[in-house]
Amino acid sequence: MNQTASAAPETDSSVKNLVPRIIPRAEHGISRKNISNGALRVLYRLHEAGYKAFLVGGAVRDLLLGGHPKDFDIATDATPEQTRALFRNCRLIGRRFRLAHVVFGREIVEVATFRGIGEAGDSDRHVVDGRIVRDNVYGSIEEDAIRRDFTVNALYYDISDFSVRDYVGGIADLQHRTMRLIGDPVQRYREDPVRMLRAARLAAKLEFSLAEETEAPIGELAGLLADVAPARLFDESLKLFLSGHGLESLRRLHHLGLLGELFPATARALAGPRSAEFGRLLGYTFTSTDERIRSDKPVTPAFLFAAMLWEPVRSLAERLVQEGSDAGAAWQMAVDRVVHQQAVRVAIPKRFVMAMEEIWSLQPRFEQRQRKRVLRLLAHPKFRAAYDFLVIRSHDEPELREQVEWWTEAQELDAKQLSEQLQSTTAASAMGEPARKRKRTRRRKRKNPGAQDGPGADAETVLE
Ligand code: ATP
Ligand code: MG
Repeated sequence: MNQTASAAPETDSSVKNLVPRIIPRAEHGISRKNISNGALRVLYRLHEAGYKAFLVGGAVRDLLLGGHPKDFDIATDATPEQTRALFRNCRLIGRRFRLAHVVFGREIVEVATFRGIGEAGDSDRHVVDGRIVRDNVYGSIEEDAIRRDFTVNALYYDISDFSVRDYVGGIADLQHRTMRLIGDPVQRYREDPVRMLRAARLAAKLEFSLAEETEAPIGELAGLLADVAPARLFDESLKLFLSGHGLESLRRLHHLGLLGELFPATARALAGPRSAEFGRLLGYTFTSTDERIRSDKPVTPAFLFAAMLWEPVRSLAERLVQEGSDAGAAWQMAVDRVVHQQAVRVAIPKRFVMAMEEIWSLQPRFEQRQRKRVLRLLAHPKFRAAYDFLVIRSHDEPELREQVEWWTEAQELDAKQLSEQLQSTTAASAMGEPARKRKRTRRRKRKNPGAQDGPGADAETVLE
């Protein structure tokens, strides 16, 4: 071992003197057959042209952990222009920091020139006619390593000899399953508060813990996220919740005190009088979303957001009714207010907000069994999402189960069967409204301990 360990270099001279720990090919598990063809071609071509070429970042980390990276990033000492000259299928992107994208069919390999330190401020911008033309400070591999966020994200796989280079103690942290910020944590979070979210997300995904000094400042610095562009927070929210580890990400955010920065109303409701029920609802929602993602089924963020804001809307509407509003107006007011306040933090695009509102507004329509309304609801573009949400609600609201059974069956019937079923329901309800009666009996059963099953069975512990 040499002196690199988990050193956090602070000065220029210590950066230059940084000696990597080199793990030779025989001592690590990265095999080229797990690297995409596109990435290999880019690495080899750069190398043959005399440039340094490394696979870097999440891909190296995931390969060392035995995972399958979804994208491959490459770092090189070739400038973007030099990279472009080597590939026909290459375009340069990014105004502030230029990157090369090399395209192989559906695969895009991102090639970045080693980035220098000190480009965080605006002083290195080149401005022409008021337009930023470039903001590029290229650097050495050492500088590139220490400007990355976590030690496990700063490992370099060298195509020239298939070794792995470690400048910041990433290998040791990988072995201890620890996320450790490079450098002074407070300074690094201040430079970019999104790193707090990345800590939560990557720890959830990798089942890592946070190093003590990496975790400690988060409570105090969480508020810095208020200054991050809501659009970036939306992108980050999708990565948190729609990468197959949504429930674990939610738990980590909750425990680190970060959830309230992204979804303040959700965090408040989780601390409110119905926290246990709401925690379970989120548990069911995120578990089913994670499962769908793992089995490659489609998911929509609108569904998750509808669940996350459901209790805030419900409880606000309830309060407005108590204060004298009529139910319909109270509901609409609650929706408007909650959605509006949410938009200040995370910019959920309009189309998802609309879908979210539809999922909510369709909920009471599952009570209606008149032929026309049933057919209209079944044909509604958001029927499926609204039905799935009803199913999730029914885990904790047993009085909804009769509705779930009815609509589960209704979807499976062909037109003729459905119309027979509707005739009998309509006749029955005309005679004595059995749906309502049944609803009341079911409600009394609510205390039945056997009524709860699925992932929320251990109730309050869902977000523990
Ligand atoms: P994922 O598995 O989600 O792709 P990742 O670590 O690859 O995880 P990316 O967003 O793809 O995350 O970023 C690629 C690399 O860029 C990271 O591994 C890290 O080295 C660097 N990086 C990304 N975001 C930051 C940041 N905010 N600050 C410093 N370095 C960053
Ligand atoms: Mg990545």
